[in-house]
Amino acid sequence: MSKKFINASIYKHEDASEILVEDGKIKAIGTDLGPADESIDLGGRLVLPPYVDSHLHLDYYFTGQDPKVKNESGTLFEAIDLWNDYKKGTSKEEMKERIRQAVKDVASYGTQFIRAQTDCTDPKLTGIKAALEVRDELKDNITIQVVAFPQNGMFSYEEEGKTGRDLVEEALQLGADCVGGIPHNEWSREDGMASIKEIVRLAIKYDKLIDVHCDETDDDEARFLEMLNAEAMKQGYGQETTASHTCSFGSVNDAYAFRMMGLFRQSGLNFVSCPTENLFLQGRQDSYPKRRGLTRVKEFVDNDINVAFGQDSIVDLWYPAGSGNMMNILDNGIHATQLMREEDFPRNFDLITYNGAKLMQVEDQYGLEEGKPANFIVLDAPSAFEAQRCRVECLASIRNGEYLFEKAPRQYQTALDIDRKTK
Ligand SMILES: [Zn+2]
Repeated sequence: MSKKFINASIYKHEDASEILVEDGKIKAIGTDLGPADESIDLGGRLVLPPYVDSHLHLDYYFTGQDPKVKNESGTLFEAIDLWNDYKKGTSKEEMKERIRQAVKDVASYGTQFIRAQTDCTDPKLTGIKAALEVRDELKDNITIQVVAFPQNGMFSYEEEGKTGRDLVEEALQLGADCVGGIPHNEWSREDGMASIKEIVRLAIKYDKLIDVHCDETDDDEARFLEMLNAEAMKQGYGQETTASHTCSFGSVNDAYAFRMMGLFRQSGLNFVSCPTENLFLQGRQDSYPKRRGLTRVKEFVDNDINVAFGQDSIVDLWYPAGSGNMMNILDNGIHATQLMREEDFPRNFDLITYNGAKLMQVEDQYGLEEGKPANFIVLDAPSAFEAQRCRVECLASIRNGEYLFEKAPRQYQTALDIDRKTK
């Protein structure tokens, strides 16, 4: 069975307008590709590889609207305390249902790849077990990587004789895909450093990727990013390692940042920035001028350092809004990081597509290339620029050549003579 998607504007394939799909794989991308069993006219719309959400807490989804818990201060640290109490009263089935709902919600906007940060500081590992089961259950329609994330720390947490470190290891043995960490939330710099050494050691032992919540503070003296990079570099493990948030790197002095950029290029370290979340959470102790709280995304892009955007939270104790629509994240992200130069628009979608796939190391399933699985989405715009300018909707998500969903383009009637300018 072959399908031909015609009259398409294909991301980073300027001269092509057709995609030929056979047996769920991309057979060809080009023009005049010949006959197919079925022909689908995309009306000149933009085709992208599916959205990748590189950093999302599926297990926290909609906990923010539970009347039992309320984050009065709006800070990250109050959220961690509240969640600590909350998770004790949750069953695996409840958690699975929450994660399933989150995945369906996120997928409805065109995401097919999620790196799910999942709290493992719970002696029963309820969230990890739930996330692993949902990952396997939904794998045909969505690719989920589960990060064993010790929200309360590796060494600052101990319950029923198990430390956060022990629980990370247990989660990896159960099948988690990545080693997580949160060195800035350990009780001391020494513990933070010890946690980084342990993260890298466990990743190598179990052959897993690394994704650390790293320096999610405005402290311009935070240095866990430097330590993580050095540790990964020593082990030749930079490309397998992702530093999430790294907010404080937006506050360090330029001479230091310049030196570190060289080291990041050398190590191949990956970065994830969560623009909406950190715009909301950071800068809380500042009066004015108030910092944006984001890491140096534009400088990473300019220095060929891999960086992706993530949603992070959907209505949880850390952040009261969020939908999982990566277009919203991209829009906020390119504003907050000033990625709006002429050369940026044609490649900005990398931040929510290819760059995330690279750090997840899912390239065998991912990309608009011949031979890859036919996974792609269709946006309601004729170009990458128009899609960003008008923050358009994703009209279709296609996985292995089959539609996961299809929506009709928005129609409206008006008395105005509408002639919208497009570029
Ligand atoms: Zn996070």
